[in-house]
Amino acid sequence: MISALDFVRPHIQAMPPYQPILPYDVLSQELGLPPSSLVKLDANENPYGPLPEVLTSLTAEVHLHIYPDPESRQVRGLLAAYHRIAEEQIVVSAGADELIDLLMRVFLEPGDGLLNCPPTFGMYAFDAALSQAVLHTIPRRSDFSLDMAAIERTVAEVRPKLMFLANPNNPDGSLISPSDLDRLLELPLVLVLDEAYIHFAGSEQSAVARVSGRENLIVLRTFSKWGGLAGVRVGYGVFPDKLVPTLMVAKQPYNVSVVAQRAAVACLQNTAKLDLQRDEIIDRRERLLSALESIPWLQPYPSHANFILCRVMDRPAPVVKELLRRQGILVRHFDQPGLDDHLRISIGRQAEIDRLLAALKGMGEV
Ligand code: PMP
Repeated sequence: MISALDFVRPHIQAMPPYQPILPYDVLSQELGLPPSSLVKLDANENPYGPLPEVLTSLTAEVHLHIYPDPESRQVRGLLAAYHRIAEEQIVVSAGADELIDLLMRVFLEPGDGLLNCPPTFGMYAFDAALSQAVLHTIPRRSDFSLDMAAIERTVAEVRPKLMFLANPNNPDGSLISPSDLDRLLELPLVLVLDEAYIHFAGSEQSAVARVSGRENLIVLRTFSKWGGLAGVRVGYGVFPDKLVPTLMVAKQPYNVSVVAQRAAVACLQNTAKLDLQRDEIIDRRERLLSALESIPWLQPYPSHANFILCRVMDRPAPVVKELLRRQGILVRHFDQPGLDDHLRISIGRQAEIDRLLAALKGMGEV
């Protein structure tokens, strides 16, 4: 009998599955705890959830039976004003993830090169594999800074088309140094800076203003973290304006739902409120850093994002993760070389951070 599976492209058959986090209801069933008692610090979501203004905007007249605006005109208009750039430079998407995938499909033929600097966000390597790109891997140094000499050497040797860099980087929260960024912008490739967490680093760190006047810089943004809309799926990119018509051709016409466009508009009409929440998260991040530093078996790294990465000493990190999980506290462990003795903790609400710290302190010495 003919099986559909036999016709799947071999490189996709060979791919390991992406390991997404489990949804609330599944987790609460697994742990036997009510969803309200879970402390979810594993996916860098915004602990405040959406603004009340977002929810109100969704109950006002919304045409759910009509396809959304393929050009997300209202969102782009507000984004152009927010960034003081032209609407023609902006493409709105179903999260930053959609643009990572779209860019790879637009730029990469099978066999084309993509430069990646792990440890970093897993979707760059994942989407590269989907596109049958050749991944040129230049690991970061032990302090997570970029190995610029190796990057420049590799670019000269293999001429990759694309380079993706998260700034701040996930999972450690470090920023690219300004001098490294200047050097990266001179490379003969398309540099995609993923600024998913830039709000927590300070707007002066953003490269959005540098996109105009250059032909090779792209900046990705999302409403998932700052905007509290991870479940809605809305993000955007800032591009050299000549590239935007091509992206508009290649993207799915109705990629951003009516609900997502409404929610993004409400965020952009209330940026001051989002910034206040962001300030609280930054404040709590700094206090959590000190508290984690006082735990002798943890070594936290300073972060410019809404999470803190910690090295776990004297005991296996997966065991710590599991002990927290049994108490309904979820943190992220990375089962990969160089990170397997680390945990990443998202900055939750104060009560959640208090529960986490009590649980960690309760684990005592080994
Ligand atoms: N970029 C980075 C660096 C991320 O960590 C994430 C989310 N984990 C994303 C992009 C994805 O953002 P979105 O929810 O907008 O797809």
